Amino acid sequence: MKIQFLGAAREVTGSKHLITTDSGHTILLDCGMYQGKGMETDAANRDLGFDPAQLDCVVLSHAHIDHSGLIPYIVKMGFKGDIYCTPATRDLCALMLTDTAFIQEQDVRTYNKKIDKQNPHKEKGKKYKIEPLYTQQDVNKAMKHFVTYSYDRRFRLFDDVLLTFTNSGHMLGGAICSLEIYEKDERMSGVEADPKRWKRLTYTGDIGRKYCHILPPPQLFPQCDYLICESTYGDRLHDEAEVTEEQLLGVVEDTCVYRKGQLLIPSFSVGRTQEIVYVLNQLYNDGRLPHIPVYVDSPMSTNATQIFRMYPDDLSDEVRDTMQFDPDPFGFNTLRYITDIRESKALNHKDEPCIIISASGMLEAGRIKHHVANHISDPRCTILIVGYCEPTTLGARIQQPGLQWISIFGLDRKIKAQITKIEGFSGHGDYKEMIDYLTRSLSVDKVKRVFVVHGDENAAEAYKGHLHEAEFKNIEVPEKGETVEL
Ligand SMILES: [Zn+2]
Repeated sequence: MKIQFLGAAREVTGSKHLITTDSGHTILLDCGMYQGKGMETDAANRDLGFDPAQLDCVVLSHAHIDHSGLIPYIVKMGFKGDIYCTPATRDLCALMLTDTAFIQEQDVRTYNKKIDKQNPHKEKGKKYKIEPLYTQQDVNKAMKHFVTYSYDRRFRLFDDVLLTFTNSGHMLGGAICSLEIYEKDERMSGVEADPKRWKRLTYTGDIGRKYCHILPPPQLFPQCDYLICESTYGDRLHDEAEVTEEQLLGVVEDTCVYRKGQLLIPSFSVGRTQEIVYVLNQLYNDGRLPHIPVYVDSPMSTNATQIFRMYPDDLSDEVRDTMQFDPDPFGFNTLRYITDIRESKALNHKDEPCIIISASGMLEAGRIKHHVANHISDPRCTILIVGYCEPTTLGARIQQPGLQWISIFGLDRKIKAQITKIEGFSGHGDYKEMIDYLTRSLSVDKVKRVFVVHGDENAAEAYKGHLHEAEFKNIEVPEKGETVEL
């Protein structure tokens, strides 16, 4: 077989790895989108590096857009095959891909309007305007290609290809993908009666953390001969083992009880929001959460939470234990999910202490940006950052020490609110957690080759070193476009 690394090679987005078996089957591991600011990544996304019409199937590790975001695009470009994933991944994809299409359609409209203004006298025949990669209708068509299988079931993709999903603990529905491919082994030819054997290739997708409130730790996966492994935190260790209820309670009490202000939490709609809500729910159940209103102000978070409720078996033991006496661990009496835009706007006029959790996590867009614009000059308020923010985003800029003014929606605003950060909410294991997980799952001496992907250059190279220390051999960090023969 051959593997061609078509994305997330020495970088963290655009995961795509194309397998071609000796019998001619083509299997794409993940179909991720390159993510970045505005239209910069558009060309990279359109240049797939393969013909979707010739592709047999997609094996999808999880629903994050950097792993799933180009699925509607390949369907639009002629892909006819099946997309294999877990049931929760399918449901989350329906939600997240629709949202991605909506954002693209909006971005393209804004871009085309600008182009219209800049080019009042258009040259005939020259193409000025751009089209979105795909629309919401394309997403609807793509969803018909999904075929779902539960964790730990070994199923047949083709006569000579088997696949097993193992819970990766990274996001709801996330899976380690273990393929078994029956084909010729060069070393055995001429010696054995049947020179073929099952070659075992495992793709980790993204690996979760040892401890997360709502997801289980990554589960042990079957032995493999070849491993494609992520390396997002290949050069880093997390500061905190876990986010404690006390850390969050401290910020709530300081802001909402002592200063009588509002606590704003920018948060990704899928995963992070549910984890924060769950921690607040635990504090509520223990009678420790101050009696103040809590709002999750995001239609996407509301819908995603509904999907979390549908898959208790995919969640942590802790959540299932809680559900023995509290059937809804993502809801409590003082919590309200807000979808209506008028209700969201009405929050701006409330002066009472409250907690508002809303997207986007990096403060680049969404309802939270309006809430922050309204409250950043109020010394009673706190903006609590709970995730990584890209250096150019508003979420990162407001964290600069000593910064006094910031421009939001074109207006300079004095920063008087407290800006606080809680570390520890991360979906990715650090390198120690990952190595520990790999060495517990695998007999290291039986792994013939390792390919390090999904990490920037430094992280991937550092991770290669850590894998070497753990006695893995033949470790490579492939370049984008590189093909290897196994
Ligand atoms: Zn991910």
